[in-house]
Amino acid sequence: MSHKLKVGELNEEYLTDEDVWRILTIVLSPKSVKSSTYKYALIKSIIENLYQVNDDFELTYDQLAYGFTKVYWNLVVHHDLVKQNRGNGNAKAVTDILEFQMKHAIPSEFSFDKINDRLQLKLVSKIKSVMKTNVFGALYGDTKGQFYAFDHKREYFRLKPAVHQFMLRYQLLLTNLTNYHMARMIEELNEVPNINYLLEKVETIAKRSSLKPFEEILLHYFEASCFYCGKDLSKSNSQTEVDHFIPWSFVQSDQIWNLVLSCRNCNNSKRDKLPERSYLNSIIDRNEELVEKVNESKKVLNNYKDKKIIMLYDYSIRNGFDEIWVPNNR
Ligand SMILES: [Zn+2]
Repeated sequence: MSHKLKVGELNEEYLTDEDVWRILTIVLSPKSVKSSTYKYALIKSIIENLYQVNDDFELTYDQLAYGFTKVYWNLVVHHDLVKQNRGNGNAKAVTDILEFQMKHAIPSEFSFDKINDRLQLKLVSKIKSVMKTNVFGALYGDTKGQFYAFDHKREYFRLKPAVHQFMLRYQLLLTNLTNYHMARMIEELNEVPNINYLLEKVETIAKRSSLKPFEEILLHYFEASCFYCGKDLSKSNSQTEVDHFIPWSFVQSDQIWNLVLSCRNCNNSKRDKLPERSYLNSIIDRNEELVEKVNESKKVLNNYKDKKIIMLYDYSIRNGFDEIWVPNNR
């Protein structure tokens, strides 16, 4: 596994801005498997140090560990947001910081800068070793070696010049994106009353509570069967559900041309994945039929064109929805 690496060489492949965005989208997205907030803290620390690189675009582990430690001191000690990882127990960085604070009797109101230099150094060096085991290699793996090289022995970290340029250009946007995703994960991991789930409220404002009206329209014009596996849904014991063909988390709206009838099994296993491309043709056909059938009340299909759902399919892949789903029972 990549986080066990002691050295990571830079993949020298040429990167366009679009490539960098694409990698970042995947690294930041909740779809990438993250067990802790480490990745975000490292990105924040890299951003903080963008102007500290030497002529070879290198940063020392100490520089990065300093920024990284500050992030966690603020969250864990200052704001009591202790849970920074999934699973049992606390993340190593968190345990180390709390132990250190206790041992040296540092008051919680102290910001990191207020701690005396000698102690600061000591803590940063502790956290640096956590980063060696758990952080540098992990983000390196997620970025497929395209963003930076690192070497535990020399304790250096070298950014790809194109990535450095990119980060300078979009610094504020990147900071906001990283903060957002980090906050989202912290919100999920920490229980009230420490937080109030504001992000969740902002995010889910567009979600419709019920898709029942769409289900009725679809059942009116089509046979009651699962769009994906063909299961007959007309039997009294079968549960009919409405599924967003292109995942809701990407489209963030409910348009009938993106909604299909589905059995519970398919709906549950598909979740927010994209269906295999062959289904794109099926939904285009389905929509064509729908356009013909609901001629009288065209409203529901206003502005629909085949081209749009194809575009949506391709753009969702570019936005990180690249996990393709097929029904288990097909
Ligand atoms: Zn099905």
